Amino acid sequence: MGDITIDTVRSAGVVGAGGAGFPTHVKLSGKADTVIINAAECEPLLHKDKEVLKRYAEQVLAGLAGAMKLTGASRGVVGIKEKYHDVIDLLRPRLAADMDIAPLQDAYPAGDEFILVYDVLGRVVPPGGIPLNVSAVVMNVETAVNVAASPARPVTEKFITVAGAVAEPVTLRVPIGVTLNQLLAAAGGASVADPCFIVGGVMMGYLEDNHDALVDKTTGGLIVLGWDHVIVRRRRQDWAQIARIGRSACDQCSFCTELCPRYLLGHPIEPHRAMRSLGFNLTGEPNVLGTAFCCECNLCSLYSCPEDLDPRNVCVRNKRRLASEKKRWENPPFNPSRPTLHMANRKAPMKRLIRKIGLAGFTNVGPLEEKLLATRRVGIKLKQHLGAPCEPLVQAGQKVAKGQEIGRSPVTDGKPALGAPVHASIDGTVEAVRDGVVWIVA
Ligand code: SF4
Ligand code: SF4
Repeated sequence: MGDITIDTVRSAGVVGAGGAGFPTHVKLSGKADTVIINAAECEPLLHKDKEVLKRYAEQVLAGLAGAMKLTGASRGVVGIKEKYHDVIDLLRPRLAADMDIAPLQDAYPAGDEFILVYDVLGRVVPPGGIPLNVSAVVMNVETAVNVAASPARPVTEKFITVAGAVAEPVTLRVPIGVTLNQLLAAAGGASVADPCFIVGGVMMGYLEDNHDALVDKTTGGLIVLGWDHVIVRRRRQDWAQIARIGRSACDQCSFCTELCPRYLLGHPIEPHRAMRSLGFNLTGEPNVLGTAFCCECNLCSLYSCPEDLDPRNVCVRNKRRLASEKKRWENPPFNPSRPTLHMANRKAPMKRLIRKIGLAGFTNVGPLEEKLLATRRVGIKLKQHLGAPCEPLVQAGQKVAKGQEIGRSPVTDGKPALGAPVHASIDGTVEAVRDGVVWIVA
């Protein structure tokens, strides 16, 4: 295998394998003293990162080494929950001299980038900043595998945990472009009559009513729940309900603020003030600049609030509005000494969180099924990343091979837009290019 370079990472189409899909070649173009592998995996019922680390430890560490070389980092750290002794024991003898392991508490949101950087390095990323501001780069476990493989093959597969109300919770290896229904079938089907799909994770994911929605490079988990499960009911509340109930029932106890991970980092976000603002203007629209620093972890709504109100959505709605109005809080106040006062004893223990959100009855495992899921048809989205959608390089009727580049970032004035190329995930023929998706049949 050749050397890992920014070009191999770019042309392999590597993007953050969870979250928004930030192009990894851009992230690794920055300079940092430390690269952290984010193996905290704090979303309840997800096991993908631990399973991938167990099976592909060498590749994850090769990806870490490659990222360290590209960013000039002198230290690499795997941040993983202390309770996973077996994975830590497996990793330790394989670590290079400039790598180590940071054992993490079993708490939520240990995998939030800012919390992870603080837990591992004791550095506080400033409000509105990124880990690079404190000389750190954070990379997902699966992203590291893809970085390691980038000189040899592009990103055409995903690891996904399927859990919740399913017959056999499992972590699957699947071609990009299969459907959520195919994932459910591979987990033995639903154990409830009217299954609802939460994509990503119950805390930060979203309710997906289209059960034939397509898996892309950022899909990390599928949690199946019954229609009457509390998580599904909370997700179905509309804004009018959230605002009306919040306005009338919030007693300003401020638990939402006292446990907010970003508040604890010293950032100027206080969700109880956003809640208070619901009652203090004519429209009921929250109007608090600090909500721009909400990381959308959902802890305040699903764990902290004793009234089961929804400060998270109040913050997020305001955050989106501020962004659309291009309003920024320049030089926000910042109290970096706050974590030393509060952080250690205000984390949400996973066991208590799982009980609180009604997941304690589900089997909390996700063993890896290494065999690639078989499929005869895939839909490859032209946008699976942050930035501009790719332009298709193929047309209906054309034969394609697995790994072939089928979409590329548009170029303006000689410069490619922010993004990453996409590749065929099976051998076959292009059936259609329609609505931003390249359909391929074997
Ligand atoms: S925790 Fe709930 S009741 Fe207390 S201030 Fe926050 S939203 Fe209001
Ligand atoms: S979702 Fe709530 S707890 Fe999480 S960062 Fe936003 S305000 Fe804080």
